[in-house]
Amino acid sequence: MNQSIDLSKLMVNVSDTRKPFVIVGGGIAGVYAALLLQDLCPHQKIIIIEQSASLGGLLGSRQFHGHWFDYGTHVPRETGLAHIDELLFSYMQEKGFSSFRNSNAANISKDNCLYTRSPNPFLATPSNTSISLQLDEIKKSNQHGEFENLDAQLRQVYGDSLTEDFFAPCMKKRFGARLNELAPNSHQLVGLSRLILGNADLMETLKKQPSYDKVLAFADQTMGMSKLNHYYPLDGDGVGKWIDGLVDSLDETNVSIFCQANVTGVSVENEQIESISFVDHTGYKQTIDCEQLFWCGPVFPLLKLSKSSYKPSYRPTIRQTYLYHFAFEQPPIIESNYVNVNDPKFSSFRITLYSNLCNTPTDTHRITVEVIADKSVDSIPDCESIYQELIQMRIIEQDNPLKFAVNDTVTAGFPVLTVGFMQETKKQSSVALAHMTNLSLLGKANGKSFFMHDVLVNAHDQICALVE
Ligand SMILES: Cc1cc2nc3c(=O)[nH]c(=O)nc-3n(C[C@H](O)[C@H](O)[C@H](O)COP(=O)(O)OP(=O)(O)OC[C@H]3O[C@@H](n4cnc5c(N)ncnc54)[C@H](O)[C@@H]3O)c2cc1C
Repeated sequence: MNQSIDLSKLMVNVSDTRKPFVIVGGGIAGVYAALLLQDLCPHQKIIIIEQSASLGGLLGSRQFHGHWFDYGTHVPRETGLAHIDELLFSYMQEKGFSSFRNSNAANISKDNCLYTRSPNPFLATPSNTSISLQLDEIKKSNQHGEFENLDAQLRQVYGDSLTEDFFAPCMKKRFGARLNELAPNSHQLVGLSRLILGNADLMETLKKQPSYDKVLAFADQTMGMSKLNHYYPLDGDGVGKWIDGLVDSLDETNVSIFCQANVTGVSVENEQIESISFVDHTGYKQTIDCEQLFWCGPVFPLLKLSKSSYKPSYRPTIRQTYLYHFAFEQPPIIESNYVNVNDPKFSSFRITLYSNLCNTPTDTHRITVEVIADKSVDSIPDCESIYQELIQMRIIEQDNPLKFAVNDTVTAGFPVLTVGFMQETKKQSSVALAHMTNLSLLGKANGKSFFMHDVLVNAHDQICALVE
């Protein structure tokens, strides 16, 4: 249930003489920060500086041959916090978005076994003969404590069998790294927290016991389902339509947006950010005063721009997301909205089926397949091999006519979440916050949150604490 809060208590009076709030990075963290600040401080000037051509970051859509395909995150979901949901989702019902509680997702996690009742890894395939050993190891496990790395955590929590047989190859596919290199909890960021090891009755019975509840999932996603709504546009648009609507609700008189703009300097005096310099899309250099900086991108560039002497001791490995967009004449075989592909035999890692998501009649059935690989790898799969994977996984029929296929790449790579990377990110964040007292670090890049829900709640908490 949404919590109810009195917005008037959060309002502050800000005189017009205050310097502007500056937001750098216009992903969902930056857009939400602008909406919240506009709501809490209605007279305050707000400036958004974004390096790319439009706002939205990983929440965006691109058109190919007249059809929309998403770029990163596909399906926004309510957070359950009334203040956030009101600002982000209240307009969606009237603007042609469908809303649904059941994510209606599937997974392929082992032996090319397509399981359409849950996004959680289904490992109860006929070849899994070690279920009693796996359950025994979980029962004896220790689910609490500090862990040195992901390998240590998984062995303690899920036991050796699942760690070696399932997690090791699956995490290698996602991150290209061994479990003992990865940071604790990084499996959760790729949706691998809860597993399905047996049939519906067994899972329901086991989940009544605390030792199993945290690591096992119900066999059917309609059981224990959250009351929060997901949203998606009905009429063939992509998720970018959501961001466009949010940007339209920013008040132009107080909020200025600079896209294709590069920050060139952050001037700091006595641990206070005084001004921000940037070059706008025309090449014109501007310097603006800054009351508070909300930095929503990676932290190291900010340290350099603010002339901090900090030298990083760890260089991250960057993974790239490659997108394969397909348009078919006939609908897919399955009715799922998306499929998580954990099975290491396939390069695909997530498949989004837009005609199921939109649920409106169409003569073009769009599918996006995401593939994650090291930036340095030369052998990225081509469209033909990903198309063949869709047939092998029984997502589409072999004789379903293909209208077109295109490749795209998510420009911003993402770092492999190793122990060293997480420590380095934490260090950089604390150095930046100590060096600049009127700085807020928001968004996924500061290492505190990754999923949109957590990014939004973190931004909300920081901003409310600041302006209250
Ligand atoms: C491939 C992929 C798929 C994902 N799928 C999901 C999902 O399904 N569900 C989910 O909850 N989460 C998902 N995530 C996590 C998702 O990234 C977050 O939920 C959310 O998008 C983070 O928002 P953000 O604003 O922090 O970052 P971003 O969306 O990355 O936005 C950051 C913005 O800041 C800009 N920027 C950065 N540095 C600067 C600078 N120096 N100057 C100016 N502008 C700058 C960038 O251009 C970008 O627009 C996914 C992530 C990836 C990588």
